[in-house]
Amino acid sequence: LPIMTVKNMSLTPSPEEEFQKKEARPVQIVQANKDDHTFELNESALEKILLQDHVKDLNVVVVSVAGAFRKGKSFLLDFMLRYMHSWMGDNDDPLTGFTWRGGCERETTGIQVWSEVFVVDKPDGSKVAVLLVDTQGAFDSQSTIKDSATVFALSTMTSSIQVILKLFTEYGRLALEEVSKKPFQSLMFLIRDWCFPYEYCYGLKGGNEFLDKRLQVKHNQHEELQNVRNHIQHCFSNINCFLLPHPGLKVATNPKFDGRLRDINEDFKTELARLVPLLLAPNQLVEKEIGGNKVTCRDLLEYFKSYIKIYQG
Ligand code: GDP
Ligand code: MG
Repeated sequence: LPIMTVKNMSLTPSPEEEFQKKEARPVQIVQANKDDHTFELNESALEKILLQDHVKDLNVVVVSVAGAFRKGKSFLLDFMLRYMHSWMGDNDDPLTGFTWRGGCERETTGIQVWSEVFVVDKPDGSKVAVLLVDTQGAFDSQSTIKDSATVFALSTMTSSIQVILKLFTEYGRLALEEVSKKPFQSLMFLIRDWCFPYEYCYGLKGGNEFLDKRLQVKHNQHEELQNVRNHIQHCFSNINCFLLPHPGLKVATNPKFDGRLRDINEDFKTELARLVPLLLAPNQLVEKEIGGNKVTCRDLLEYFKSYIKIYQG
């Protein structure tokens, strides 16, 4: 497995940063209430994370992984965490971080953020704060579909790099307002368990070819589908697609699988080691912008507060 390293991480963590790293965990910041379809922002938790002295005034890069339950979001995020810690892990180390163990997790429609905010030096000399976000939705009934669409919309509005584990469907359900200039930044469709590498090869190249084909609007298409396509292309400055191979039967079906590299298929690990730096390498980090202005951690907190109000009716 190619070693993934982050070259430009800040080298001297403050005692506060050291403490933060030890205590790091996923924190639920937005939660959908199944019974009355309201949304709750855990303001004090988000404040604690975003208003830490060493990050509050830095421009923020918000990397959000969004998808339905059991799609492998936490699995991917745990590898993203390893990358941010400049450590790919030994063959027999279990994965830790966002909980991803099959079956036992409480399934809450909502948004979780990683409590440790990473400070990265970009090649141009600027420092940015990187926030990792897990956005989870449920699609088992009409009412949860609506809740999920709201959560995805919130995640789209607050992130600068969004990874979607599935093509289109979630976006088909997003009713975003018509917009004049592209309001959102970077979108990566991630397709897992890709079975046709001879048609479109694994990775970014095959993914983008596949995406181009799928994004072509044809006259004989259903009108709703045409609209979704046009809409996505109008909304994002940068759209990519990545095809991931199947991780192997241990990952997919063995309840005792704990995330160790030894149990994961080689070609999956190879592609994963290409995918993660595409999202997180210092020169790839896209700072969050709203209305053309870069947003700091402190600003992001305010945006969360005002966006949640939209959905509280
Ligand atoms: P989440 O609910 O989206 O966070 O999904 P998890 O990360 O918890 O993963 C759910 C299950 O899918 C776990 O048992 C993982 O081992 C497995 N898994 C993770 N990535 C993949 C993948 O790319 N393909 C398949 N088939 N299974 C995966
Ligand atoms: Mg999860």
